[in-house]
Amino acid sequence: MKKRQVVMKKDCTGGKNSTTSSSMVRTVRYVECQKNHAANIGSYAVDGCREFMASGDEGTNGALLCAACGCHRNFHRREVETEVVCEYSPPTFND
Ligand SMILES: [Zn+2]
Repeated sequence: MKKRQVVMKKDCTGGKNSTTSSSMVRTVRYVECQKNHAANIGSYAVDGCREFMASGDEGTNGALLCAACGCHRNFHRREVETEVVCEYSPPTFND
């Protein structure tokens, strides 16, 4: 008789009946400004802005303009971080 071994995998794909729950957190950051300020003289120079900082509140025009360099957010490199938050509650046994 063959003995079967069942390997229980702990992953983040738990359904509703599982004690494992996971959620995806997506964080979008706008980092280095890549606008070429020397394009008109045929050269390449960026302003050195390291991270986009909105100059206005969300929903206003300023939200898309960098407070540091004044460039549109599109000029900043987009970085998407996907974080999977995994919560696992092990079952408790009372012997
Ligand atoms: Zn810039």
